[in-house]
Amino acid sequence: MAVQSVGIVGAGQMGNGIAHVFALAGYDVLMTDISQDALDKALSLIDRNLERQASKNRIAEDDRRAAMGRIRTTLRLADLGQTDLVIEAATERETVKQAIFEDLVPHLKPDTILTSNTSSISITRLASRTDRPEKFMGFHFMNPVPVMQLVELIRGIATDQPTYDTLLAVVEKLGKTAATAEDFPAFIVNRILMPMINEAVYTLYEGVGNVRSIDESLKLGANHPMGPLELADFIGLDTCLAIMNVLHDGLADTKYRPCPLLTKYVEAGWLGRKTGRGFYDYRGGTPVPTR
Ligand code: NAD
Repeated sequence: MAVQSVGIVGAGQMGNGIAHVFALAGYDVLMTDISQDALDKALSLIDRNLERQASKNRIAEDDRRAAMGRIRTTLRLADLGQTDLVIEAATERETVKQAIFEDLVPHLKPDTILTSNTSSISITRLASRTDRPEKFMGFHFMNPVPVMQLVELIRGIATDQPTYDTLLAVVEKLGKTAATAEDFPAFIVNRILMPMINEAVYTLYEGVGNVRSIDESLKLGANHPMGPLELADFIGLDTCLAIMNVLHDGLADTKYRPCPLLTKYVEAGWLGRKTGRGFYDYRGGTPVPTR
């Protein structure tokens, strides 16, 4: 099936990056959110990011302008019903995602493909609440979307081959690389990455190191481009906690129990970069460790 138009639900960190790369690849993009402010912020961020790419000659000026012209926004979820492919990139909470798909289904064209950018939630379970589990897949982009090469493709139990083939072709058109994962909690990347981040928070919680020494250790000692706590702030601590809970519940193994300190930061609303404070305080010029 040929995909020309794409609907994106959620205009947060991931939604705006996904809109950016699809528009640049020539797709018509319609983005929705519950908040007009989120939509406005997403549009100005995409504009800034495209301008940065153009100023570094990574993209042509004409392509930048054309990409911006392909992105529209709406506050009405139902407007996405006429698109060929819907990518849900709203908050990582199963009840939120289920409600979105339930509200959207009555407005969909018969052949629209539904996908979720979830980092961890069961694709099979989300699909089973829709009228088209065979046309439902996990479509997991990495943050920041314009920079990261990988897209995880996750088939639910009912996903059919044409749906998988269509998404594989879309990933190629975006110039990205697909990795296929089976539908088990957190798939591949986060199954490995999140327990490492959670262990870094335990290392902090138990006083083995402070924020700076933990991040420096992994950067200089294991050649990671970012320290685990810096990376957690970048991802969003609410998202990290949600993924650990999915691993813990879904695999029923205590090795996945979320660190109480991670929970504490989320309770404080210190969610990382997106709220200005997490393991680092970003409100000044340079990030300052909060522990
Ligand atoms: P975010 O908090 O930046 O953005 C979420 C957006 O969803 C917000 O703008 C919010 O207003 C909107 N939203 C909430 N409920 C909604 C609804 N009912 N309808 C429409 N919009 C709604 O979160 P994010 O980091 O962009 O994460 C979004 C999804 O992407 C999550 O499923 C997350 O697990 C996944 N993901 C995140 C990362 C990451 O590094 N942050 C990486 C890969 C995948």
